Parts: sequence; C-alpha cells; structure tokens
Amino acid sequence: KPLVFSGVQPTGNLHLGNYLGAIRKFVALQENNDCIYCVVDLHSITAQLVHEDLPGQIRSIAAAFIASGIDPEKHIVFNQSAVPQHAELAWIFNCVARIGWMSRMTQFKDKAGKDRENASLGLLAYPSLMAADILVYRATHVPVGDDQKQHLELTRDIAQKFNIDFMEHIRRGGYGIDIVVGEEPIHAYFPQVEPMIGGPAPRVMSLRDGTKKMSKSDPSDLSRINLMDDAETISKKIRKAKTDPDALPSEVDGLKGRPEADNLVGIYAALSDRTREQVLAEFGGQQFSVFKPALVDLAVSVLSPITGEMRRLMEDTAHVDAILRKGGERARARAEKTMREVREIIGFLQ
Ligand code: ATP
Ligand code: MG
Repeated sequence: KPLVFSGVQPTGNLHLGNYLGAIRKFVALQENNDCIYCVVDLHSITAQLVHEDLPGQIRSIAAAFIASGIDPEKHIVFNQSAVPQHAELAWIFNCVARIGWMSRMTQFKDKAGKDRENASLGLLAYPSLMAADILVYRATHVPVGDDQKQHLELTRDIAQKFNIDFMEHIRRGGYGIDIVVGEEPIHAYFPQVEPMIGGPAPRVMSLRDGTKKMSKSDPSDLSRINLMDDAETISKKIRKAKTDPDALPSEVDGLKGRPEADNLVGIYAALSDRTREQVLAEFGGQQFSVFKPALVDLAVSVLSPITGEMRRLMEDTAHVDAILRKGGERARARAEKTMREVREIIGFLQ
C-alpha cells in the first residue's frame, strides 16, 4: 500500500482552507493507503516561539483529525515532538540543503516579512524539517494545500541530493531501492514524493481579500471560517465576505479577474463535491444575495457535525492524549528503523 504522510501546525484556529485543502483529503485517502497524520508542533515554534496554550492547540488539531473521520487505530495520529527522529533527520537535511534553496521559499519570505535578518533560523530551515517529517517514514504521497507545493519540490531536491551524495554508501550498505527519476533509473535510499494538491479548493482565499490565502495566523478572524465557528458566526462571516457587485457568471471563464467570486464558487464546489462548472450551471446569473445564503446553509451542514464532535473530544483530554501517545509510539518505531539506516549510510557509529 502507498504510504501517505501529512501534517498540520498547532498555530491557532483550524479553518475551512485547512479542511478542504488538507484534512478532508486525509480522510479520503485512508481507504486505499497506509496513512500517518501528524500535529507538527516543532513547526509551530518557527514563526512564533511562545504560545499561550500549546498543549490545547495540539489537542485541538488531533481532535479535528478524529472528528473529521480519521481512524487512529487503522492509521497513525501523533504529535511530531514525540518522535525525536524528525528533528534528527532534519539536522542531517540542514547539511544536505543549501542556504540559497531555503531563502528562495515564498513562505519564508512572507512569514519573515521585511526584517528578514531577524527571523528565526528555524523559520528558514522549516522546509528541511518538513522533508524530514515525510522522508523519515519514506512516505511517497503527501496531501497538502497549494501553498505547500514549493516545499514539496524542495523535499524532492533534498532526497535527490542525499541519494546522489551518498550513492556509494547506500550501495555498499545494500540499502537502496530502484526508482526512476525522469527517464533515469537510479539506485536511491529516499523516494521522490508525489504532491497531492488537486480538487476544487487547493487554495482557499481570505474572505476579506481574494488575493491572500486563508490562514490561521491572519489577525482578522473575519478573514476565515474556523472549524469551531457556530452557525451564526459562519453566516455573519459569509454575509460580510468581500465580493464585487456583479451577478455570478454562467461559465467558469467569467470568474477570471474576480478573485472573491471565484473563491466563493470554489468553496461551494468543494463543500458539495461538485465542479465549479456544475455550481455555475445552478447559480449563473444569480446575485450574491441569493448565492451567499445557499453557501451558508451548505457550510453549516458540512461543518456542524465536525464542530460538535471536536467540542466533545476536546472535553475528553485524557482520551485525545492517549491516542497521541499510542500513535507516537508506533511512529517512533517506524522512524527509528529509517534512522538506524541513515546513521549507518552516513557513517555515524551507533
Ligand atoms: P499558518 O498561517 O500558521 O501557516 P495555515 O493555515 O497555513 O497556518 P498549516 O498548518 O500551515 O496552516 O497548513 C496545514 C495544511 O493546510 C497544509 O496542507 C496547507 O497546505 C493547508 N492549507 C493552509 N491554508 C490553506 C488554504 N487557504 N487553502 C487550502 N489549503 C490550505
Ligand atoms: Mg501554513
């Protein structure tokens, strides 16, 4: 079975973008894959070091995974810091990756802002830890939102450089697997990961600004629909969402140059498991005064069962903690298997 890995940071309120771009795909992939889903707490201290309630944030992401339908018995759900092998492999990847690769990442540029010299070294090295998260299990499939595409390309570059730099050591230890890169069959230790980005909402935009992605860390709560929002709040946020004055077009082409309209149609399509074309076939020619209430009803009907289950789980912290602890043990055993080989390949005595 293909091995799927993905993670979500405990950096605040989970939102519709996280759900449609990531978590909903995690749920669907359980059927035919072996899945590892991680609350990436080590990542959460890269942009902001001190968090008011990190344990609560970690539990809320785990609760969202489970409430959305992830089965922690059949698959693995855990928090990253419980498996120190992630950080160990990230250190090695820090020595594989080049500073130039890291400083070109758009997430680094966005999050570091103007005062780049003053960003944490961890924020610069973020993609190296992300590569380690995936490759410490030698996972091959990674469901993420569109914003993580660049980091996954870097993961491929890191894997490839490691494979080439240590080619002789890998062969000598008898560890390699044969993979094909482009047309070339090569003998490699780490696989080339496949990003899984598609769907109608790979990048959900802010409700206040159709050119910015919806983010947990956006200071405006009106910019996003949180998984924990109640029906009234969802309704208020969608009613206040920025739009243009025109009616919806009947064809997808008519959404060009209308980022806010495009975003709301994309959200509707994703939530109803339809395409943009199908949504416009129904709503083309209608005003937002008709479309927005329909979107509110749809969003509430999809999200409210998840919200209810999340609330219930978050009152049972012992249950959530036990799931994470068990998941951590299982993940640790698998990650250590890779690390023993990696240490051997590099030449560390153990
Ligand atoms: P932060 O602002 O702290 O980076 P975030 O909202 O970007 O928070 P992450 O934990 O960084 O959330 O990302 C978790 C997953 O959600 C990733 O797969 C990411 O690609 C996806 N994701 C985040 N924002 C969006 C969005 N607006 N649309 C679709 N997917 C998204
Ligand atoms: Mg992010």
